[in-house]
Amino acid sequence: MAGNITFTMIKPGAVHNEYIGPILAKINEAGFRIVAMKFTKLRTKQAEVFYSVHSERPFYRDLVKFMTSGPIVVAILEKPNAVDEYRKLIGSTDPEKAEEGTIRKMFAESVQLNAVHGSDSNENAIIESDFFFSKSERFSKDGEVYEVAP
Ligand code: ATP
Ligand code: MG
Repeated sequence: MAGNITFTMIKPGAVHNEYIGPILAKINEAGFRIVAMKFTKLRTKQAEVFYSVHSERPFYRDLVKFMTSGPIVVAILEKPNAVDEYRKLIGSTDPEKAEEGTIRKMFAESVQLNAVHGSDSNENAIIESDFFFSKSERFSKDGEVYEVAP
């Protein structure tokens, strides 16, 4: 099951631009199933931990500021080979380099305001999912709470 989930966030800029619906439509059309979802807002400490791999990068403080600037949608998505499939769907980090039809090409404003996050490995998909969701907030296709979380 591990390889079949990824974690995503619709970032504050895209939420502010009213892109939640269009982005969820792209996710749906691409064949992902929503396992878990919520509308929330990151506190500074949470954003710092979530992006701690970038703590030495020059854009880190700006990134934390941006990610805490407004509400976000967080979700766990399921599909075979979910991490790679979702990275393909969202496109390159820089929207100018993202392919036509990708979420970032369609909805991102810049490399920082790039509309969505997608996990970069199965291991991080699990860590990031656990960061936001308890097991009882995840549902299988038949609508039951997962006994063993994906
Ligand atoms: P994400 O982790 O959000 O899915 P990514 O894996 O495509 O994006 P990372 O290299 O992990 O890209 O960067 C994390 C986030 O940091 C990016 O999504 C973007 O918002 C921001 N970021 C990355 N590079 C830059 C940069 N050069 N300038 C400003 N912000 C950046
Ligand atoms: Mg990343």
